[in-house]
Amino acid sequence: MRISAKKVYEVLKREGVEHIHHANSVITSCQFLRNGALLSRGSIEQKGLYQTPQNSDKIDKDMGVWFDVFADSVDIHHRASRLNAYGPVLFLIDIELLKKAYTGGIWITKLNPTRWEGKKHEDKWFTSVKEFENNFKKGEFNQMLVFRHCGGELSFKKYLKEIKLDDPNQKSKHTKIDYYSMAFGALKISMTEGGIDVPIFRRTCVGKCSCINEYSSDMARTDQMYMPKPIKSD
Ligand SMILES: [Zn+2]
Repeated sequence: MRISAKKVYEVLKREGVEHIHHANSVITSCQFLRNGALLSRGSIEQKGLYQTPQNSDKIDKDMGVWFDVFADSVDIHHRASRLNAYGPVLFLIDIELLKKAYTGGIWITKLNPTRWEGKKHEDKWFTSVKEFENNFKKGEFNQMLVFRHCGGELSFKKYLKEIKLDDPNQKSKHTKIDYYSMAFGALKISMTEGGIDVPIFRRTCVGKCSCINEYSSDMARTDQMYMPKPIKSD
């Protein structure tokens, strides 16, 4: 159910959430920066822009969330000590966006859409303000903020605070350049094109983070996530 942005802001603030978080691939993140907005998968497709395929794409279409913009209350990579499946680039957007900008009403999931198959409406979404107020927890990965009334574009120009970028500590065999500097350069150029200037920080992993192993164990996926341009198959 649609909950007012003001109410969502209040509850998130109460829980100590300062930023909303969105993770994505380098190519897709560059599209966001050029447009000054997070874009839904469907909106990017409609604009005829390229985006990195995600494992969840078919499910998103089937479940009716293809035109929605998703965000998390925490940095999942940091919290879970593993890479974020949606990509190595993390946008940190000031939560004041919810209060001061027009975002439209927000829906909050109770379960990740990849697990919605056969589930009832009330298992997928919070269905009352009271239920949301009583049960929302910072860092509960299944509880995602879904912007469904913003026309598929969540403008962040004044509210984007920083970008955190993973460093897989490897070189791409396609370009012979290390992934981190390749991604850093592409993001910086896209920022200039979009009239945005925020810092990009190299992620510092905590504890026994498994991301380096995960990046090196699936180099095809790592290439897909880091390449600033689509990889041509030959
Ligand atoms: Zn890590």
